[in-house]
Amino acid sequence: MTVTRFAPSPTGYLHVGNLRTALFNYLIARKASGQFILRLDDTDPERSKPEYADAIQEDLEWLGLTWDRVERQSDRLDRYAAAADDLRAKGRFYEAFETPVELDLKRKKQLNMGQPPVYDRAALGLSEEEKAALRAERGQGVWRFLLDRGRIEWADGILGDLSIDAASVSDPVLIRGDGQVLYTLASVVDDTEMGITHVVRGSDHVTNTATQIQIIAALGGRLPAFAHHSLLTGPQGEALSKRLGTLALRDLRENGVEPMALLSHMARIGSSQPVELAGSLEELAEGFDPGHFGSAPTKFDVEDLYPLTGRYLHTLPLSAVAADVAALGVPDDLADPFWTVARANITTRADLAGWWALFRDGATPLVADEDRAFVAEAFAMLPDLPYTADTWADWTGAVKQATGRKGKPLFMPLRKAVTGLERGPEMADVMPLLQKKPAL
Ligand code: GLU
Repeated sequence: MTVTRFAPSPTGYLHVGNLRTALFNYLIARKASGQFILRLDDTDPERSKPEYADAIQEDLEWLGLTWDRVERQSDRLDRYAAAADDLRAKGRFYEAFETPVELDLKRKKQLNMGQPPVYDRAALGLSEEEKAALRAERGQGVWRFLLDRGRIEWADGILGDLSIDAASVSDPVLIRGDGQVLYTLASVVDDTEMGITHVVRGSDHVTNTATQIQIIAALGGRLPAFAHHSLLTGPQGEALSKRLGTLALRDLRENGVEPMALLSHMARIGSSQPVELAGSLEELAEGFDPGHFGSAPTKFDVEDLYPLTGRYLHTLPLSAVAADVAALGVPDDLADPFWTVARANITTRADLAGWWALFRDGATPLVADEDRAFVAEAFAMLPDLPYTADTWADWTGAVKQATGRKGKPLFMPLRKAVTGLERGPEMADVMPLLQKKPAL
C-alpha cells in the first residue's frame, strides 16, 4: 500500500512552500487509495510549540488535506535511541567532540586549500582514554554516522537519476551533545517503521536524502521512493525564503484566498500541465503525477491566486455562501438574486460587503456635467420601490420617449448614476436589489 507523510516541524506557521510538499504527498496517497500521515517533527523542544502544531492542523483542515493519523516524533524517542544503539553495534556511529568554533576553523582551512569542507573524521582516531578525557572536559560528544565513501545513487521521481559522491558529504551528526536526536535519524526511523513508500520534499533535502539512504540501509530498512520538488521563487525568480513568512497559509485565508484556488494553483505550477481550476481534491489527485514537474525553480506569484479565487466563487451556488450573504443582512428573498449578481463581480468573499452596501444604501451617482439635466429628468421618472426585473426596461423605455436619447448615451449615464460605476452587472438584475430609490 502507498503510504506518504507530510512532516513539518511545528516551529512556525505553514507557508506556500510547505503546502507544495504537503499537497504532493497528499495527492500521491489519495490517488493510490493509500494512507497519508501527518508527522510532527518536534524533536527540538525549544523551537517546537504546541500552538504551531495546532495551527498546522487547522491550516491543513482548511484546505481539506485530511490525514489518516498523526505521529509525533517526541512520542518516539525510545525508537530513535534503539536505532542509535543499532548503529553503534554495527560500527556506523561515532562520538566526536569538536566545538562549533573548531569545526568552523577546519572548514575555513579546507576552503583556503581549495578542498571541499567535509568533516575530516578526526574523532574516529580517538582512543577510549582520549574520549573519556574529552567527555570530562567538554561533556558528551555528538554522534556522527559513518558514511560509506562511494557514490549514492537513486532514481528521483522528479529530478531523474541522481548520483552523489559520499566523500563530498560530512558524516552527519544524528545526536547532539545534549542528547537531542536530530531530524535525519528520526526521519529515517519513522519512514522505515511506518512503512512510508514515497517521500516527496523540497530539493533542499537532496543531500539529506543521500545520507538517509545509507542510514536506512545500515538499519536494514526498505528504501522509499524519493522525489524532490523544486523550490519556489518570487515572480521575478528572486529567492522566496525571506518572504515566506508573509506567505503563510493563514494570511492567504485571511485575505480571502479560496482553498480550491490555492490547491489548484499549487498542484500545477512548475509542471508541464496548465493551471486550471479543479472542482475537488479527488480531481486533482486523479491527474497528479510527480513526473510532470521540472527541476527548475518554480515561480510563485501570490497575485495569481486572486483571479482563480474569483473564478472559483463564480461557480458556487448560493448554498455555499449562504452564511456570508446572511451575515451581511441581505433579506432572505433577495439572497439568491443578490448572489447571482454579485458573484460574477467579486474577487473574494469580502467584496460581497461592498456590493450589498451599494444596493442597500445607494451609490454616489457618477454624473458628467453635460448629463446632469438628463439624469435629473430621468430620476424624476423613476417609479417607487420595490423594483422588479422589468423596472430597468420600463424606466429606460419611458426616458427614451421623453428625452429622445437612445443606445449608449441613454443607458450609460443612467448606469453610472444608479451604481456609481462605469461597468458592472446587468442593470435589469441590479434594479430589483435596490433598497433605496436612486437620487441625485
Ligand atoms: N521536518 C522536515 C522539514 O520540515 C521534514 C523533511 C522531510 O520531509 O523529510 O524540513
